[in-house]
Amino acid sequence: MKVICPACQREGRKSKVYSMGSARTMLGWNTYHDEEGVYHSHDPNEVKTGYRCENGHMFDVIWRAECPNCDYGREKPEVKELGVDEKYLARKRRADEKGGEI
Ligand SMILES: [Zn+2]
Ligand SMILES: [Zn+2]
Repeated sequence: MKVICPACQREGRKSKVYSMGSARTMLGWNTYHDEEGVYHSHDPNEVKTGYRCENGHMFDVIWRAECPNCDYGREKPEVKELGVDEKYLARKRRADEKGGEI
C-alpha cells in the first residue's frame, strides 16, 4: 500500500512519511465458503495507522483486509487529516539550526 501525505500532495511537495503506530479493532468473525465452494475472508476489523510527514502533517489511514475472492475490502483506504504537529516542527527547526538530529 502506498502512503503519501495528502497535505504535501495538495501543495505539490514531496515528503518522507513516518509511521506513528497502528491499532486494530477486535471484532469477531468467521471465514466461509459460498454456494459454489469459493472461500471468502470478510474481516470487518479496521486497521488504523497514524502517520506524520517530515513537514509535520499528521494523518490516519484506515483500511480493511481484502477478501482474496471478491471485492470485499478493496475500496480505497480512508485518509483522515489531523492537522500539523507544531511541537514536532519546533523541535525540527531547533535541530536544523544546530545541524543535528532530532
Ligand atoms: Zn505533509
Ligand atoms: Zn469475499
